[in-house]
Amino acid sequence: MDNKKYVYGFDEGNKDMRSLLGGKGANLAEMTKLGINVPFGFTVSTEACIRYYAEDKQLWDELVDEIKKHIKKTEEVLGKKFGDNENPLLFSVRSGAVVSMPGMMDTVLNLGLTDVSVEGLAKSTNNPRFAYDSYRRFIQMFSDVSKGLDSEHFEEILADERQKAGVELDKDIPAENLKEVVRRYKELYKKELGEEFPQDPIEQLLAAVAAVFASWNNERAILYRRLNSIPHDLGTAVNVQSMVFGNNGETSGTGVAFSRDPSTGENVLYGEYLINAQGEDVVAGIRTPSHISELEKQMPEVYKEFYDTAQKLENHYRDMQDLEFTIDNGKLYILQTRNGKRTAQAAVNIAVELVNEGLRTKDEALLMIEPTQLDQLLHPTFDEKALEKAEKLTKGLAASPGAATGYISFSAGDATLRNAKNEPVILVRTETSPEDLQGMDSAKGILTSRGGMTSHAAVVARGMGKCCVAGAHEVLVNEKEKTVTIGDVVLGENDMISLDGSTGIVYKGEVATNDPELSGNFATLMSWADEVRRLQIRANADTPHDAQQALDLGAEGVGLCRTEHMFFAEDRINAVREMILSNTLAQREKALAKIEPIQEEDFYDIYKVMNGKAVTIRLLDPPLHEFLPHTDEDIAIVAKELGVTILEQKKAIDDLHEVNPMLGHRGLRLAITFPEIYQMQARAITKAALRMKEEGVDVKPEIMIPLAGDAKELEVVASSIRAEIDKLCEENGQELDYHIGTMIEIPRATLLADEIAEVAEFFSFGTNDLTQMTYGFSRDDAGKFLAQYLDDGIFEKDPFQVIDQKGVGKLMKNAVKLGKRTRPNIKLGICGEHGGEPSSVAFCDEIGLDYVSCSPFRVPISRLSAAQKTLRDRQLQMTRITELF
Ligand code: PEP
Ligand code: MG
Repeated sequence: MDNKKYVYGFDEGNKDMRSLLGGKGANLAEMTKLGINVPFGFTVSTEACIRYYAEDKQLWDELVDEIKKHIKKTEEVLGKKFGDNENPLLFSVRSGAVVSMPGMMDTVLNLGLTDVSVEGLAKSTNNPRFAYDSYRRFIQMFSDVSKGLDSEHFEEILADERQKAGVELDKDIPAENLKEVVRRYKELYKKELGEEFPQDPIEQLLAAVAAVFASWNNERAILYRRLNSIPHDLGTAVNVQSMVFGNNGETSGTGVAFSRDPSTGENVLYGEYLINAQGEDVVAGIRTPSHISELEKQMPEVYKEFYDTAQKLENHYRDMQDLEFTIDNGKLYILQTRNGKRTAQAAVNIAVELVNEGLRTKDEALLMIEPTQLDQLLHPTFDEKALEKAEKLTKGLAASPGAATGYISFSAGDATLRNAKNEPVILVRTETSPEDLQGMDSAKGILTSRGGMTSHAAVVARGMGKCCVAGAHEVLVNEKEKTVTIGDVVLGENDMISLDGSTGIVYKGEVATNDPELSGNFATLMSWADEVRRLQIRANADTPHDAQQALDLGAEGVGLCRTEHMFFAEDRINAVREMILSNTLAQREKALAKIEPIQEEDFYDIYKVMNGKAVTIRLLDPPLHEFLPHTDEDIAIVAKELGVTILEQKKAIDDLHEVNPMLGHRGLRLAITFPEIYQMQARAITKAALRMKEEGVDVKPEIMIPLAGDAKELEVVASSIRAEIDKLCEENGQELDYHIGTMIEIPRATLLADEIAEVAEFFSFGTNDLTQMTYGFSRDDAGKFLAQYLDDGIFEKDPFQVIDQKGVGKLMKNAVKLGKRTRPNIKLGICGEHGGEPSSVAFCDEIGLDYVSCSPFRVPISRLSAAQKTLRDRQLQMTRITELF
């Protein structure tokens, strides 16, 4: 027999038991321990959920017995009886996953109401209207959650009775009509399901527990987990908590509040509440709630108690808290607390301020932030000047910061389709619901006309780091007609709007944006990361503008300057084409002579910006045909310069065609056939560096040869460059400290890295090509089928985004080992896309690389990721030491 314990009273757990009790359950237990006024109850563990799935979705006898024991205990603690006809105990039944998934799973309130106990509730509260209102809510929720009956049918009955009673709002429907609503609801239930509405409260409870377990695998929960990388096998706990009533008259209410502003991080109580309502009314966003500061005027004592409790919990958890509360007849209850979800801006501000307030150490603050979340701060904001000129349409709530411009999309499906076609869209809805998740993810921003700061749209958008303006009341959305009316402006799906999620303002048309800046608390946090990390962070930058951006965002050097981008510029493309199509060495050298001074200026400008910091310049990589002319006009220009006919020119162009260009005549293979190209580049680099030296900046060029797979091949190319540089230095009577290295991006190079290191003074892993060639997946086309691999769970992550540590990583480790064997101090880096992805950054640190290089916008993400890796290593070391003693 299984004696395992699956059910825990709130007085039996604590906050560290979240994997067993779920986040909500663990925190309810912790609050109970702290003496906070939490309605008593119990938690059915995540292990029970896992067993429920293992047992063919059935609850087993021992579990039922355990649940019954806990009901009894709750009855004793509260002095009430479940299903009683005098003063009945009622429960709320809510999901509580280990990682919070707001709104994704199911909830049932007022459970335990039957034809008998509803009378008991009417008696004990002396409020039959309230009792029958609670009963009809329960029937509706239970039927929806446990039996899958559509709420719409129930809503129709309610609307009908509202009309019969001649009132407009649900709260004004008299008791007699509500009794009729209940009768009709039960009738509907019987008609649809062929059975009576259950009158045994235990049966109700068990059905609700099973329904919550089942909701772990509903479509939207699965999608949410996929979007947030939450494992699918954790299961959810179920919290069964005695009911308190926010809908118990005008001295009752319910609300949600954060101990600090979740949008900005400002240290003020932030939230909203509704009088005479149940929790779902606030979250659903149907009635627009009052700001929490109103409560101070309405119920000063309750407000004070709530304020103090929020502070106490924040100090206890040492983090911003997201609280749910209910006021039942003037008495305050806390229904939930958890670390609040926040925007990146708030995350940074809160982390730094918690350190300033002495609640956290700098190291803890660094670990509080998910590096990829910083992405939100690294996106453009609206250009102030453009904003002044932009036409304001309306203002809603600044629900989630950021700037977004796009075409209006009226449905989640439409937003998803248009996004797939690379069209920027803004999802415009009256309100959003969990079904809209995919569309919200596809949109650049979200605009709703209803709902507050804790409405579904606002909460989910903040979690996604997506710009959102909520509750813009002037916005009238006609989803059927696909029009939106704001004042006298009518817009359709071919019109663009812009949203400022930091001010809540909606603009007509497209508004220009500006690059982000690193300042204030963000800069402080980054400086703490720099104090901690071992790994250096460089950036991939091809232009002085990118290089400046990289510096502004804290890069310590340029790890990859791709010179091919320079070849496309208008002032040189014709000379590049001449160079490629030359028939003789003399012709090619003539063309190269035209390009050389321009290249020199390119390098000089980048060196100037970097002012002595490391710059790794990679010599030309792509196949030459990428630069060829396509139009007759362009072909004629080159033909004239080279003295050939247009026909001859076209034939020469055709001859350069390759079946497999990615595996073709590219990288250092170009320099084997045309050594003059790299020699020209080496001269341009040298001249630029020597000029900088004359200006007093000590530039030590790092010249990187792409695509080497063989030591001999590399040696041929490297020595030809070296000869060129040395000759130039000698001619000038100057010395230059330069280094020649290679990219490691061909699997063969990783296997023979010891031989390669005889020639190369440094390695930089080109993990884009290395991934392509290790898997044999084309980096340009793999997206088409990789999506299926990810959907089917064959691959957990896209290997072009996250380093495949098992395969590609193994090759990298091998290359590091062999490279160091030949050249113990060899400098090692990475410059593939992976250099800006947190888990890949950690891996690069682990295998001993000296630096990662990523796009300028990702530099702060890599700085934080590298710091977190060092801190986690230290934690691990401490644990090992503690275990030793
Ligand atoms: C790489 O292959 O990882 C790399 C950085 O080079 P490119 O993307 O230019 O091929
Ligand atoms: Mg490459």
